[in-house]
Amino acid sequence: MRYVVSVDKSAELLRLAIPLMSRQATALHPVSYAVWYEYVALSNPGLRKAVDESLSEHGRLDEAKTYAIHRRHIAEVDPATAEQIADGFERVLTGVSHSATAAGTQAERYAQALGSLQAGLAHAAEEPVAEILRHTAKMAQAMADLQSRLKESQREILDLRSEVHRARHESLVDALTGLANRRAFDQQLATCLLAPNAASGAAGQPCLIMADIDHFKRVNDSYGHAFGDKVLKAVAQVLSSVAADAGTVARIGGEEFAILLPATPMARAEQLAERIRFTVASSCIRRSTGEEIDSVTVSLGVVAAQPQQLPNELLARADTALYVSKQGGRNRVTAA
Ligand code: GH3
Ligand code: MG
Ligand code: MG
Repeated sequence: MRYVVSVDKSAELLRLAIPLMSRQATALHPVSYAVWYEYVALSNPGLRKAVDESLSEHGRLDEAKTYAIHRRHIAEVDPATAEQIADGFERVLTGVSHSATAAGTQAERYAQALGSLQAGLAHAAEEPVAEILRHTAKMAQAMADLQSRLKESQREILDLRSEVHRARHESLVDALTGLANRRAFDQQLATCLLAPNAASGAAGQPCLIMADIDHFKRVNDSYGHAFGDKVLKAVAQVLSSVAADAGTVARIGGEEFAILLPATPMARAEQLAERIRFTVASSCIRRSTGEEIDSVTVSLGVVAAQPQQLPNELLARADTALYVSKQGGRNRVTAA
C-alpha cells in the first residue's frame, strides 16, 4: 500500500497541503490533492523536484502541469490509492464538521441560559448581561457560518469522490472496446481462483476461454489501423453478446481476448467458444466504401481450472490450447 500514516499525521498533511494546493491555477480535485499530499509528505522526491522546478519556472501549477506531474510521478501506480485519498479527505472534514456542530450547539445552550438569567435579574444588572448576550449571539453566528462552509466542503468532497469512482471505473475498462481491460481481468481471475468453490472440481471450477484474431496484422496492413480498430470493436461485440451473461469478457492484449467463466462445466465453456468462433466467422464486416472484406476469424483455447491453480498457470494452459488452434489452421477451438 502506498500511504501508511496515522489519522493525526494525515490530518496534518491535509492542513499543510490545502494552502499550497489552493495557491495554484488548478481546481481542487483529488489529482491536485494527491500531488500536494505527496509534496508535503516528503515521500516522493522525484515529484517534489518536478513541482519545485515547475514553480520556479512558471510561478504556479496549472491543470496541464498538475496532471502531467501526477501521471509521471503518481498515476499508474495504484488506482485504489486515489480512492483512499478521497476517503481520508472526507473523514477529516467530517470530523471537523462534527466538532463545529457540537460547538455551535454549546453556544446556543449558553445563550439560552444567559437569556433566562437576564429575565430573573434586577434592573441594574441587565446592561452587562445584554452585552454578554450580544457577544454570545455573534459567536453562535460564527459557528453557524463555519458549519455551513463545512457542509459546502463536504458536498465538494462527495463530488470529488464520485469523480474518483469514475476514474477508477475507467482504469478498469478498455477504452476502445468497452470490455474489461487487462488490469480488471487479472483482478477477477485472481479472485475467482481463490473462491472457495474454485477447487471443488466438476461444475464448481472456473473455465477460461482465450481468443485471438487470426492474421490481424494483414487486416491492418490491407485496410489501415482505423479499420483494424473497427474490427476489434466488432469482435468485442460478438464476444459480449455471446458470453457477457456467462462471465467476464476482457480485452487482454492488442487483438487478444479472454472470457472468465466462474463455476462452469467444461462442456458449456466449449459450447460458448464454438458459438463465438462461428458467429465471428459468419459476420460480415464492411469498409466505409461498402466493400465487404474477407471474413475475419478467431482462434480459441478453452481450459478448466485445476484445484489450486495459479492465474499464470491457467493463462499459460489456455495460451497453449490457443496455439494448437493456430497451428491446426486457425478459425478453430481447442479444449485442453
Ligand atoms: P495470428 O493469426 O498468428 O494471431 O497473426 P496476427 O497477425 O493476428 O498476429 P500478430 O501478433 O503478428 O499481429 C497482431 C497485430 O495486432 C499487430 C498489431 O499491429 C495489431 N494491433 C495490436 N493492437 C491493436 C490495436 O489496438 N488496433 C489495431 N488496429 N491493431 C492492433
Ligand atoms: Mg496475438
Ligand atoms: Mg492474432
